[in-house]
Amino acid sequence: MSIQSQAIKTTCPYCGVGCGVVITPDDNGEFRVKGDPAHPANRGLLCSKGSALAETLSLDGRLLYPQIKGNTVAWDDAIAAVASGLKQTIESHGPDSVAFYVSGQLLTEDYYVANKLMKGFIGSANIDTNSRLCMSSAVAGHKRAFGSDTVPGCYEDLELADLLVLVGSNTAWCHPVIYQRIVTARKQNPNQVLVVIDPRRTATSQSCDLHLALQSGTDQVLFNGLFKFLYDTGMMHHQFVENHTQGFSEIINTNLPDVPTVAQECGLSVTEVLKFYSLFAQHDSTVTLFSQGINQWSYGTDRVNAIINVHLLTGRMGKPGSAPFSITGQPNAMGGREVGGLANQLAAHMDFNTPEHWGYIQKFWQTDSLAKTEGLKAVDMFREIHSGKIKAVWIMATNPAVSLPDSTAVRQALSRCELVIVSDCVQETDTTRYAHILLPAQTWGERNGTVTNSERCISRQRPFLAGAGEAKPDWWIISQVGRKMGFPNAFKYESAHEIFNEHATLSGLHNTGLEAHRDFDISGLMDLSVQQYDELAPLQWPVKRDLNSGLPLATKRMFTDGRFFTANGKARFVHVGAHKPVVVTSIEYPYTLNTGRIRDQWHTMTRTSKSPRLLLHINEPFVEINPHDASDIGVLDNQLVTLQSVKASITLRARLEDNQQRGTVFMPIHWNDRFSANAVACRLIEAHADPVSGQPEFKSTPVKLKPFQATWYGFVLSKRELAIEEFDYWAQINCSGVIRYELAGLNPVADWSRVARKLLCTDSHVPEWIEYFDLAKICYRAARIDVGRLDSCLFVTPEHRLPDKNWLMQLFDHPLQKSDRKNILAAKSSNAVDQGPVICSCFNVGLNPINALIENQNLQCVEQIGEVLKAGTNCGSCKPELQKLLAKRSETLTKISS
Ligand code: SF4
Repeated sequence: MSIQSQAIKTTCPYCGVGCGVVITPDDNGEFRVKGDPAHPANRGLLCSKGSALAETLSLDGRLLYPQIKGNTVAWDDAIAAVASGLKQTIESHGPDSVAFYVSGQLLTEDYYVANKLMKGFIGSANIDTNSRLCMSSAVAGHKRAFGSDTVPGCYEDLELADLLVLVGSNTAWCHPVIYQRIVTARKQNPNQVLVVIDPRRTATSQSCDLHLALQSGTDQVLFNGLFKFLYDTGMMHHQFVENHTQGFSEIINTNLPDVPTVAQECGLSVTEVLKFYSLFAQHDSTVTLFSQGINQWSYGTDRVNAIINVHLLTGRMGKPGSAPFSITGQPNAMGGREVGGLANQLAAHMDFNTPEHWGYIQKFWQTDSLAKTEGLKAVDMFREIHSGKIKAVWIMATNPAVSLPDSTAVRQALSRCELVIVSDCVQETDTTRYAHILLPAQTWGERNGTVTNSERCISRQRPFLAGAGEAKPDWWIISQVGRKMGFPNAFKYESAHEIFNEHATLSGLHNTGLEAHRDFDISGLMDLSVQQYDELAPLQWPVKRDLNSGLPLATKRMFTDGRFFTANGKARFVHVGAHKPVVVTSIEYPYTLNTGRIRDQWHTMTRTSKSPRLLLHINEPFVEINPHDASDIGVLDNQLVTLQSVKASITLRARLEDNQQRGTVFMPIHWNDRFSANAVACRLIEAHADPVSGQPEFKSTPVKLKPFQATWYGFVLSKRELAIEEFDYWAQINCSGVIRYELAGLNPVADWSRVARKLLCTDSHVPEWIEYFDLAKICYRAARIDVGRLDSCLFVTPEHRLPDKNWLMQLFDHPLQKSDRKNILAAKSSNAVDQGPVICSCFNVGLNPINALIENQNLQCVEQIGEVLKAGTNCGSCKPELQKLLAKRSETLTKISS
């Protein structure tokens, strides 16, 4: 229910770009979503996911009431059960026998209170976050180099740079608005050079000046070699290195690789390596933007420092258009870092290994129970839940049963744990099924607080909906538990505003004038009134107070004066060796699995799966395989394939892509047991973590591949949820009220009619039933029709290529004609055009009409496609794919003419 009649500004809940969103209610109780033109992150742009936010607000699947062991209870009872469960565990086994596993989805205020309860009052540092999986290597790399977890630059630097290096980042899909900003900047400044470093050819590499498709896991060798090249060719910034850095001689005296060695180890030509190195040498203003492709390794921190090292060597830091730039995956990964949401941090960027920080916090929070040693990081935390050392865990706003490596062991750990508490806005996730106590949390649209994006910009999330059912803000739930556990004064918060002011005050504690030694300081915001907090415009930290005006003073760039947060104020070079992945391919497991995100889905799909148009871009879990490798193992495009690692095996749809290097495969992280039979990527992945950051390796799992020997393939369209779990393969999406199931089976089915009736006719009432057999071709089709309308249908063939579903989907919209019944049984419609997979989600434009248009009208640019089909003219997220289709066509024409 709307609580707003006016347009309201808030922030997108998905990626770390942190786009501003304007929500406008209409007279029908619906909401219009637009990009906020005044927000510095996106200046009015939104990607496909942000644009579809209004479609995700329904209450289906929401967790609305507190539950204990599946029974709905009153909040008081749920809070009492959580508090007494935690207290009894602590009394019997000590503070380290409990743990919180939280999330970059939480607002900063929620995070602050969770961290305060665990570290400040329970007295353990066993609180970690799913941000550990996304950017903790960047945090550790920053701290080693700068003495602080500081992102030095801002988004504007990406536009101002003469050379932009994107490494380990499919920006076009994972941070689409940043990519759109880069594309626009390059149009305005055609001299800007874009280099993409990625083993895969991605949407991001589509229109770059140089794509280095290096061998997976060798970025560090490339950057170490760049360091040597820059030094050898006289590109070192002597003054900067001398005045503002330390440790240079330790690096330069090590055995850094020369160009031929780099080329050999990275699987590149000497020409390619030299081209990149020369570009880096020639362009003084450089931003190197990196993401999960750098961080998610068992030596991710070293890779981060290899990048920072070359920026320090050339003094490309603290200047417009010059910075190493870590872009985070989650909307509030940065906010979590501010409040000490990681197990190895204290609040307000204070440290366990600085004893005076303990005293500051103890006094500020008025506690004598502050944890003084680091807690367990995510992977170790779940290992200790598995071992039984941790006996109670409270999971907030995240789904570790899907997202942590070795997810089978994570599930075992949860099933063994004596007390599993889960706060979530979704009733059924792979994790909530292990919960003894379920606590309904408010979600985006209902929540009130702040988030911080990748450029240190704090923005407000504002509510425009009343909390659904009995859902409560996370900070409220945690505070109630804190009070009940015996800390009434420390958790007497009544609003997010109060918490924010406390957080801002703590950030400035012993952090001004000569005492200023921490980067994170938002003390300029510590006494905001409720109105000022409500109206707070986005601004980048640190936010001090202007001495003349008394107004908050934000900071665009850090390190502009060359001073860092180390003891002597100098940044550190960090020597990093040339590591290899912990586990490598073998004769038994010859392929390397890489994992990542796709354009239109977010995390475990709990929100994005509610938008039909987002599901149409890619609607099934898949694995990308190089066509030569697929041919070696006998897999055709669109067939099913089984991936097996030492941990597990899963089954996915094969997509043959020459973007993929031979010997490597790629699959998305999003699918889980709600949407597929067996497609959780993390089941395959062993839990190897970086020893410095604790970030697990997700990019390099040895696997073997074999065809899934299906004897039949099929699909079902249904208005009702059906029991499909008994099939060997299934995947499902819900498109505007019609559920699409993809199915396949290993064994032949003797009596399809019986199976179809059992599946589609869940009650004894069968109003109208039509079916068709072709025993020779082993084809079967059936439809259940209710009061003249299609209710459900099943199509089965021995082939992996199935009839187009789009025209069948349209049959659900109106009463069936006689010809429709005939078409269903014939599996084709005389007047339907097969659109193919959706490319443009905003205007629902499929691959086939786009290809036909490009071919028939000999189109040359993306804008021409937009003029005719509108594709790419709204959020622009599909533009790289349109570009790719144009390039493919031009390649074909070149081949024909030669
Ligand atoms: Fe949201 Fe897209 Fe912006 Fe990320 S880029 S914050 S997903 S609108």
